[in-house]
Amino acid sequence: MDNNTLAISWVQAVQARGVVLAIRNGRLSLHPAKSYSQLSDEEHLTLRRCRSEIKALVESGVYPPPVPQAATPAARVEVPIPPCPYCNRACIGESHPEYRTLHFMDAAEVKKRDEAATRVMYMTLGAPGRTYGF
Ligand SMILES: [Zn+2]
Repeated sequence: MDNNTLAISWVQAVQARGVVLAIRNGRLSLHPAKSYSQLSDEEHLTLRRCRSEIKALVESGVYPPPVPQAATPAARVEVPIPPCPYCNRACIGESHPEYRTLHFMDAAEVKKRDEAATRVMYMTLGAPGRTYGF
């Protein structure tokens, strides 16, 4: 936001609280005087930064409406979801019947298969009454 826009919104915000602004002896004065200490930190900062613009505004007595900022807060930017390297598009999800096929080389799927095979191996080794060919 440029200083002029800041100055306009500052003046409007302060006036909305019933503060009367005036230029006396070349200085910006706020009435009632205590309203200066009631400004927020941000308003103090704006006053310090844009004092000359605010004074010019108050002197002119004309407060143009502030330049409307982007009316809608920054239109949402759709961040494209990177395609799944296995599905080659948005991932179809584990519940899809083709998931295990498409994700065959997915490290997680490989690990699951290995673990399943290991469980089967141990079950087979531990099965009573079976011969193992030796
Ligand atoms: Zn996928």
